[in-house]
Amino acid sequence: MAAFKQYLSIRFIFIVMISVIITTSRIFAASPEITSVRFGGDDNQTRFVLEITGDTAFRSFSLANPNRIVIDLDEVTWKIGPGGAQGKGLINNYRYGLYMPGTSRIVLDLKNPVKISNSFVIKGKNNAPNRLVFDFEKVTQTAFAKNISKPAARAKAIRATRSPANVPSGKKVIVIDPGHGGHDPGNLGGIKVNGISEKNVTISASKNIKKILEASGRYEVILTRDRDIFLNLRARSRVAHSNNADLFISIHADAFSSPSVRGATIYTLTETASDKEAASLAARENKSDIIAGVDLQDETGMVQNILIDLVKQETMNLSNRFAGELAPELKKAITVRKRSLRSAGFAVLKGIDVPSVLIEMGYLTNKTDATLLMQKETHEKIGRAILKATDNYFQKNFAFN
Ligand SMILES: [Zn+2]
Repeated sequence: MAAFKQYLSIRFIFIVMISVIITTSRIFAASPEITSVRFGGDDNQTRFVLEITGDTAFRSFSLANPNRIVIDLDEVTWKIGPGGAQGKGLINNYRYGLYMPGTSRIVLDLKNPVKISNSFVIKGKNNAPNRLVFDFEKVTQTAFAKNISKPAARAKAIRATRSPANVPSGKKVIVIDPGHGGHDPGNLGGIKVNGISEKNVTISASKNIKKILEASGRYEVILTRDRDIFLNLRARSRVAHSNNADLFISIHADAFSSPSVRGATIYTLTETASDKEAASLAARENKSDIIAGVDLQDETGMVQNILIDLVKQETMNLSNRFAGELAPELKKAITVRKRSLRSAGFAVLKGIDVPSVLIEMGYLTNKTDATLLMQKETHEKIGRAILKATDNYFQKNFAFN
């Protein structure tokens, strides 16, 4: 009982502190750091502990299909690795990152349905970090389903669209989309190879590609994200739409079970995948939102299929023409797969009326590719290939514009 009272009073102090901090923390810039993550327990009861150097408000909720627990914190700095790792006990894996400005998110993939039996903060003594503790208890799927938070409770989806950029007349607008970000690290196939996650490769490559394209003086390049932050797939295509983009290029890096497989591939959108491998890649890339704990209840498979019909045939033809220009240029610049042009139903390319391609720059599971994809020179080679291809594409298709 005494312990319970103490817990209550700690909790009360914490809540008071939070309200004070919420009003002041935005003024004192440095965000708290997550310095350690720990798991304890077994397949029936699992404790999950985050160590944090400051204070944060937190809230958690559950999502099904697949079963997940999502924990939102104030914006924090993550000092615990490249974006995700394996869990223990009732937790299969976890991933984390910036969800939107001001909010960081951690998503736990569950081995079994659970309920959060307890969550509390233990204040660190003598400058030790605070501990944010979550206790999970195994429950039935029916019990888990009852606790699924209603969409309204988490309706604040990402509204990350930017207001249209001021584009000088005469310049074509190209939107470059660095895949993944925030608590969606993308594939972690490179972690064992050289410690990098896909989201970090895509952002640095995209920034270097942007520089090359803009240096030509012919293009205005807008990045869908310019830092390590989460963006859902729909928000990415909205950036292209709201900026009246002439081209949309989504940048990714692949992973494969066999470490010898390497090389880049260019993908365009089709209803039926060009081959099995393209289909399974699209399925993996399309999981981004699910992995990240975004509610897709209002975007059922049917809606997505209708969207694909809405993309004008003309847009798809132009996408294929651009991909056709890019394939030979990319082949001159870097190593590409034997079949370097493929197609599948990529969600990020659906529903935008802008010619678009998705580039998998190489395989993070291959040592050579992983090393090269970390280098600025490789990004610049890809950038110059894209520049040549865009020049050709606009000259051939829009000669009189
Ligand atoms: Zn990807």
